[in-house]
Amino acid sequence: MRIVTSVRAMKSAAARFKAAGRTIGLVPTMGSLHEGHLSLVRASKKAADVTVVSVFVNPSQFGPGEDLKTYPRDLKRDARLLRAEGADILFHPRPEEMYPRGYRTYVEVHDLQNRLCGASRPTHFRGVCTVVLKLFHIVRPDRAFFGRKDAQQAVIIRRMAEDLDVDVRIEIRPIIRDSDGLALSSRNAYLSAEERRAALVLTRSLKEAKMTIERGENRSAAVLARIRRRVAAEPLARLDYAAVVDPEDLEPLAVIQGRALVAVAVFIGRTRLIDNVTVETAKKKRR
Ligand code: AMP
Repeated sequence: MRIVTSVRAMKSAAARFKAAGRTIGLVPTMGSLHEGHLSLVRASKKAADVTVVSVFVNPSQFGPGEDLKTYPRDLKRDARLLRAEGADILFHPRPEEMYPRGYRTYVEVHDLQNRLCGASRPTHFRGVCTVVLKLFHIVRPDRAFFGRKDAQQAVIIRRMAEDLDVDVRIEIRPIIRDSDGLALSSRNAYLSAEERRAALVLTRSLKEAKMTIERGENRSAAVLARIRRRVAAEPLARLDYAAVVDPEDLEPLAVIQGRALVAVAVFIGRTRLIDNVTVETAKKKRR
């Protein structure tokens, strides 16, 4: 596995792969890798000839007062894990390489970027879209792999790629969880033992929501009230949002019919965690 740190070197490697007729899979990450990330690497290995994994803690997707400085970084460990998976290139540019002096251009996906996580992180998705589009241009992937853990991000990136005519297939993969159900996240490393236990409120409230819907509750308000109650009962937790939305366009659903995405963001102490579940109920027949 090669570790590439310059944009120029990454572009010429991509050009060589293309010239040789090899397909490229890209897995964009912020590093501090876990099984969730590695599941994407495995999917890319299966689907493409060459797998490029980017490890870049992207400053433009962090808001003021967020955890850009403290975000866990361990490139040596990441490289070891990626080598073991058989990744071909670890792309690890410096922030000044991606955002040199005079940098001025940002990509926005209107409306979608303001919902759910966008309400409490107003510049987050513009940072995500900007870096992902830059990575698409630098790495020129045929396929790019993202986790459903960040369901809103997946919808937004799909939209961006389609709207801006990027020739890349966006693949969304399932959420990988710890044995007790907590969705894996690099930010779980921030949690104390007590907080780690409290964090299960995300898993449990979503499980309960799914069960409630599957048993016939189709009013989102009732489902959301249960989630709020459950989170309120956990002293270390503070709800940022809970929402029931259309999984395709993230529009809020008042009544659940067909597919719905139930998404939550919860502060556990100072750590903000997200999780979601997709439910499918039979559509009511029109009379
Ligand atoms: P991050 O490093 O947190 O920016 O995540 C990089 C990619 O890994 C994103 O596409 C995430 O959605 C995905 N990812 C993060 N956690 C998980 C997980 N538990 N299961 C599946 N994919 C994940």
